[in-house]
Amino acid sequence: DAYLGAINGANEKLNAYVRVTEDKAREMAAKSDEKIAAGNGGALEGIPLGVKDLFATEGVHTQACSHILDGFEPRYESTVTANLWADGAVMLGKLNMDEFAMGSSNETSYYGPVVNPWRAEGSDEKLVPGGSSGGSAAAVAAALCAGATATDTGGSIRQPAAFTATVGIKPTYGRCSRWGTVAFASSLDQAGPIARDVRDAAILLRSMASVDPKDTTSVDLPVPDYEAAIGQSVKGLKIGIPKEYRVDGMPDEVEALWQKGIDWMRDAGAEIVDISLPHTKYALPAYYIVAPAEASSNLARYDGVRYGLRVPGKDIADMYEKTRAAGFGEEVKRRVMIGTYVLSAGYYDAYYLRAQKVRTLIKQDFTQAFDAGVDAILTPATPSAPFGIADKEMASDPVKMYLNDIFTVTVNMAGLPGISVPAGLNAQGLPLGLQLIGKPFDEETLFRTAHVIE
Ligand code: GLN
Repeated sequence: DAYLGAINGANEKLNAYVRVTEDKAREMAAKSDEKIAAGNGGALEGIPLGVKDLFATEGVHTQACSHILDGFEPRYESTVTANLWADGAVMLGKLNMDEFAMGSSNETSYYGPVVNPWRAEGSDEKLVPGGSSGGSAAAVAAALCAGATATDTGGSIRQPAAFTATVGIKPTYGRCSRWGTVAFASSLDQAGPIARDVRDAAILLRSMASVDPKDTTSVDLPVPDYEAAIGQSVKGLKIGIPKEYRVDGMPDEVEALWQKGIDWMRDAGAEIVDISLPHTKYALPAYYIVAPAEASSNLARYDGVRYGLRVPGKDIADMYEKTRAAGFGEEVKRRVMIGTYVLSAGYYDAYYLRAQKVRTLIKQDFTQAFDAGVDAILTPATPSAPFGIADKEMASDPVKMYLNDIFTVTVNMAGLPGISVPAGLNAQGLPLGLQLIGKPFDEETLFRTAHVIE
């Protein structure tokens, strides 16, 4: 009741939910009440959660916030959400996002932008919550759910978490099943939670993670009790500071925050070491080849026949064209065009294949740092505090928008886990976040170190 009431009161302003599943929420909550009364509740019994619209939810509209999926009601449930419901969580509704998770500001959604519950002091300007999981981050920050599912292909969990002073973790590639999550770039996509604090994120991730016979890239490793890692000392841990993340034009407030994070870790007993990740500067350009390439292939399935929207045409090719022209937004079309171009005969070797080679080098940079004894890497989460909705520079230049991902994409390219943790406010009173990057399948060290910062 409390959460449904809060959604009722604030969603019109924030636009975080695109669908509220009130009947389902009440039904699930009643079942949880019974279980709790009988003393056999699950780990998340009765906890109300929001679900990013990228996760297929059985019998509930799932559109990836795209016009082309109008009216699509999956007859199956994604593995991640099924895991949460099996542990007793309650579904409040579907959360706004950038169309097909392509974006960094939640402005590409067919349902319109999400408004960040944070405002700069003394200003009425509306700010973005980040993207693509902007609805998830805003809903958690405004207490319109106790936690939310999200996905991260190049930063979509960590950047919105940083923009809203929430905690978001992208686990290692393979930790969560991708089955039933609308595909964007399959070799980069990972699900994870956005939560109010590190402990909540740890509890949610434990429930979301699993090996899954329906996703052969999910990994058969035990899922640790992440919560147990919180509060453990960081004494003696080696925290790497990569010099290549001191990018040109980094605002002083971000630089200062990073230094504060370094001091906090040192004060808590960690050893700070300078490291080099020499291929960092190629990560963003390589990402914007690999991700659109995979997206162009994944999005070929939206043809007006199998799902959602159909715009009639004089023959089948005409119907495809009209449906895709009407159904996809501008950013999605841009990605499909880039993707098909870099995969086409004659350009494949020059772009796609090269990007894949760069990806291997980026991965090797991290492996070398970890092999030299580094336990986790500390960086800023984003190059700036949240910016305004319809920001002039970003709206006129997609590459400016892509620069938001500069600190986060390397982690997806290397398949590593990364967590974004709120680290304070800037002079305007807006949230800034720090990122910790870990070894493959060592999310525990991220929870442990992030807890020192929060
Ligand atoms: N902003 C990045 C992009 O637009 C990342 C999105 C994501 O992680 N889903 O591709």
